[in-house]
Amino acid sequence: MVDQRDVIDAFRSYLRDHNLPVTNQRIAVASVVLLSNRHQTADDIARELRARGASVGQATVYRTLELLVGSGLAVERDFGEGYKRYESARDEPHHEHLLCTVCGHVTEFRDERLDRMTALVAETHGFARHRHRLVILGVCRACQSGTTRR
Ligand SMILES: [Zn+2]
Ligand SMILES: [Zn+2]
Repeated sequence: MVDQRDVIDAFRSYLRDHNLPVTNQRIAVASVVLLSNRHQTADDIARELRARGASVGQATVYRTLELLVGSGLAVERDFGEGYKRYESARDEPHHEHLLCTVCGHVTEFRDERLDRMTALVAETHGFARHRHRLVILGVCRACQSGTTRR
Protein backbone atom coordinates (compact mmCIF):
# COMPACT_ATOMS: atom_id res chain seq x y z
CA MET A 1 0.00 0.00 0.00
CA VAL A 2 1.34 3.38 -1.02
CA ASP A 3 1.68 5.85 1.82
CA GLN A 4 -0.88 8.64 1.62
CA ARG A 5 1.67 11.46 1.61
CA ASP A 6 3.64 9.75 -1.11
CA VAL A 7 0.86 9.94 -3.68
CA ILE A 8 0.54 13.69 -3.19
CA ASP A 9 4.32 14.03 -3.47
CA ALA A 10 4.21 11.89 -6.61
CA PHE A 11 1.64 14.28 -8.10
CA ARG A 12 3.80 17.29 -7.15
CA SER A 13 6.74 15.66 -8.95
CA TYR A 14 4.56 14.91 -11.97
CA LEU A 15 3.53 18.57 -12.21
CA ARG A 16 7.12 19.79 -11.84
CA ASP A 17 8.39 17.27 -14.41
CA HIS A 18 5.84 18.64 -16.87
CA ASN A 19 6.58 22.28 -16.05
CA LEU A 20 3.09 22.75 -14.64
CA PRO A 21 2.55 25.00 -11.63
CA VAL A 22 2.02 23.21 -8.33
CA THR A 23 -0.96 25.19 -7.05
CA ASN A 24 -2.92 24.81 -3.83
CA GLN A 25 -6.05 24.20 -5.90
CA ARG A 26 -4.47 21.32 -7.78
CA ILE A 27 -3.17 19.77 -4.58
CA ALA A 28 -6.62 20.16 -2.99
CA VAL A 29 -8.26 18.29 -5.90
CA ALA A 30 -5.54 15.63 -5.81
CA SER A 31 -6.08 15.13 -2.06
CA VAL A 32 -9.82 14.58 -2.51
CA VAL A 33 -9.24 11.99 -5.24
CA LEU A 34 -6.05 10.24 -4.14
CA LEU A 35 -6.61 10.06 -0.39
CA SER A 36 -9.95 8.33 -0.81
CA ASN A 37 -11.02 4.86 -1.81
CA ARG A 38 -14.29 6.16 -3.25
CA HIS A 39 -15.34 6.43 -6.88
CA GLN A 40 -16.20 10.10 -7.16
CA THR A 41 -17.75 12.16 -9.93
CA ALA A 42 -16.47 15.66 -10.71
CA ASP A 43 -19.56 16.96 -8.87
CA ASP A 44 -18.75 14.85 -5.80
CA ILE A 45 -15.22 16.24 -5.84
CA ALA A 46 -16.42 19.86 -6.19
CA ARG A 47 -18.86 19.30 -3.30
CA GLU A 48 -16.13 17.82 -1.11
CA LEU A 49 -13.83 20.77 -1.89
CA ARG A 50 -16.56 23.24 -0.91
CA ALA A 51 -17.16 21.30 2.31
CA ARG A 52 -13.45 21.66 3.07
CA GLY A 53 -13.66 25.38 2.40
CA ALA A 54 -11.40 25.22 -0.66
CA SER A 55 -12.44 27.47 -3.52
CA VAL A 56 -11.61 25.64 -6.72
CA GLY A 57 -13.29 26.49 -10.02
CA GLN A 58 -14.95 23.78 -12.08
CA ALA A 59 -12.47 24.18 -14.93
CA THR A 60 -9.60 23.59 -12.50
CA VAL A 61 -11.32 20.48 -11.14
CA TYR A 62 -11.66 19.02 -14.65
CA ARG A 63 -8.16 20.02 -15.71
CA THR A 64 -6.65 18.54 -12.54
CA LEU A 65 -8.61 15.31 -13.04
CA GLU A 66 -7.10 15.08 -16.53
CA LEU A 67 -3.64 15.55 -15.07
CA LEU A 68 -4.26 12.95 -12.36
CA VAL A 69 -5.37 10.40 -14.95
CA GLY A 70 -2.45 11.34 -17.21
CA SER A 71 -0.02 10.81 -14.33
CA GLY A 72 -1.40 7.33 -13.73
CA LEU A 73 -2.16 8.18 -10.09
CA ALA A 74 -5.90 8.18 -10.68
CA VAL A 75 -8.12 6.04 -12.87
CA GLU A 76 -11.15 7.22 -14.82
CA ARG A 77 -14.22 4.96 -14.82
CA ASP A 78 -17.18 5.14 -17.17
CA PHE A 79 -20.07 3.08 -15.85
CA GLY A 80 -22.40 4.34 -18.58
CA GLU A 81 -24.06 6.87 -16.28
CA GLY A 82 -23.40 9.80 -18.59
CA TYR A 83 -20.48 11.07 -16.51
CA LYS A 84 -17.13 9.73 -15.38
CA ARG A 85 -15.98 8.67 -11.95
CA TYR A 86 -12.47 8.90 -10.58
CA GLU A 87 -10.64 6.71 -8.14
CA SER A 88 -7.14 6.54 -6.79
CA ALA A 89 -5.05 4.01 -8.74
CA ARG A 90 -3.49 2.78 -5.47
CA ASP A 91 -1.60 -0.46 -5.93
CA GLU A 92 -4.33 -2.73 -7.17
CA PRO A 93 -4.29 -3.20 -10.91
CA HIS A 94 -7.58 -4.93 -11.44
CA HIS A 95 -10.94 -5.13 -9.75
CA GLU A 96 -14.60 -5.12 -10.72
CA HIS A 97 -17.40 -2.87 -9.55
CA LEU A 98 -20.96 -3.08 -8.27
CA LEU A 99 -22.85 0.15 -8.83
CA CYS A 100 -26.04 0.96 -6.91
CA THR A 101 -28.40 2.78 -9.28
CA VAL A 102 -30.32 4.27 -6.34
CA CYS A 103 -27.64 5.89 -4.18
CA GLY A 104 -24.71 5.73 -6.62
CA HIS A 105 -22.50 3.87 -4.16
CA VAL A 106 -19.73 1.82 -5.79
CA THR A 107 -18.41 -1.37 -4.24
CA GLU A 108 -15.27 -3.09 -5.46
CA PHE A 109 -14.69 -6.79 -5.68
CA ARG A 110 -12.22 -9.26 -7.10
CA ASP A 111 -12.94 -12.84 -7.96
CA GLU A 112 -10.43 -15.11 -9.62
CA ARG A 113 -13.22 -17.39 -10.88
CA LEU A 114 -14.39 -14.47 -13.00
CA ASP A 115 -10.89 -13.99 -14.42
CA ARG A 116 -10.74 -17.67 -15.35
CA MET A 117 -14.22 -17.48 -16.85
CA THR A 118 -13.41 -14.52 -19.10
CA ALA A 119 -10.27 -16.32 -20.29
CA LEU A 120 -12.39 -19.35 -21.10
CA VAL A 121 -15.02 -17.32 -22.97
CA ALA A 122 -12.32 -15.58 -25.00
CA GLU A 123 -10.69 -18.92 -25.83
CA THR A 124 -14.03 -20.39 -26.94
CA HIS A 125 -14.37 -17.52 -29.42
CA GLY A 126 -10.75 -17.79 -30.59
CA PHE A 127 -10.27 -14.34 -29.15
CA ALA A 128 -6.91 -12.98 -27.97
CA ARG A 129 -7.95 -11.61 -24.61
CA HIS A 130 -6.18 -8.54 -23.25
CA ARG A 131 -8.36 -7.45 -20.36
CA HIS A 132 -11.99 -7.16 -19.38
CA ARG A 133 -14.27 -4.71 -17.65
CA LEU A 134 -17.31 -5.54 -15.63
CA VAL A 135 -19.80 -3.45 -13.75
CA ILE A 136 -22.83 -4.98 -12.06
CA LEU A 137 -25.74 -2.55 -11.85
CA GLY A 138 -28.39 -2.99 -9.19
CA VAL A 139 -29.55 -1.93 -5.75
CA CYS A 140 -27.24 -2.10 -2.73
CA ARG A 141 -28.17 -3.73 0.55
CA ALA A 142 -28.73 -0.41 2.34
CA CYS A 143 -31.09 0.84 -0.37
CA GLN A 144 -32.97 -2.46 -0.41
CA SER A 145 -33.59 -2.21 3.31
CA GLY A 146 -34.61 1.42 3.02
CA THR A 147 -31.78 2.78 5.16
CA THR A 148 -29.93 5.68 3.61
CA ARG A 149 -26.21 5.75 3.25
CA ARG A 150 -25.77 9.52 3.25
ZN1 LIG B 1 -27.70 2.10 -2.73
ZN1 LIG C 1 -12.66 0.78 -8.22
